[in-house]
Amino acid sequence: MYKKIQYYGDFDALLEKVGFFQDSLLREIEIISRGYVSKDNKMFGDIDPYDMRMIFHSQYAGGCCIDIIFHDVIKYSFIAAYEIVVNLDYDENDTVIYLSQPGTQARSFVKCKSLQYRVHRSGLLGRKLLLGSPIPTDNSCMTSVLDDTWLQCDSCSDAWEANLTQEFTQCPSCGLIYVNPLFSPKKKQGTDYD
Ligand SMILES: [Zn+2]
Repeated sequence: MYKKIQYYGDFDALLEKVGFFQDSLLREIEIISRGYVSKDNKMFGDIDPYDMRMIFHSQYAGGCCIDIIFHDVIKYSFIAAYEIVVNLDYDENDTVIYLSQPGTQARSFVKCKSLQYRVHRSGLLGRKLLLGSPIPTDNSCMTSVLDDTWLQCDSCSDAWEANLTQEFTQCPSCGLIYVNPLFSPKKKQGTDYD
């Protein structure tokens, strides 16, 4: 169940629940437009707002996963930061969440009409992504094909058995994600790629 943040008190309750985001990192960001181009090539909702979702991983209280949804995103800015401090502010009727790096002027923010959150205990932690699909590494690292199903990571030399129905494959040792050279598109339904 998601909880709405409508007042500073709601935000303070979130901060207390997750240890003020100490020992946490921003793991995933998803930004989705409500607009789209239909299969018969018509555009819908091109001036509709965006929605955003963020997933944080935290070591607080034995580990937790914080899921925040931002509705009607008006503006956002991101600066990559290893350590963050999360603050809330209101700008006229809009809610603004700031993700600041301690001791610097660098500030990421999301300005939106409303937001809500939920906190999961440690079950959702780990390398697996909660949102979207994995992003493959650039082509400076490759996988070597060892036989019909086995691949070897060029970065750490570990070998693993690939799932032939998945387009991406991950080295279980170092975590790099590759485009699966053994992927067979015929085994996957419903996705077209050029
Ligand atoms: Zn590896």
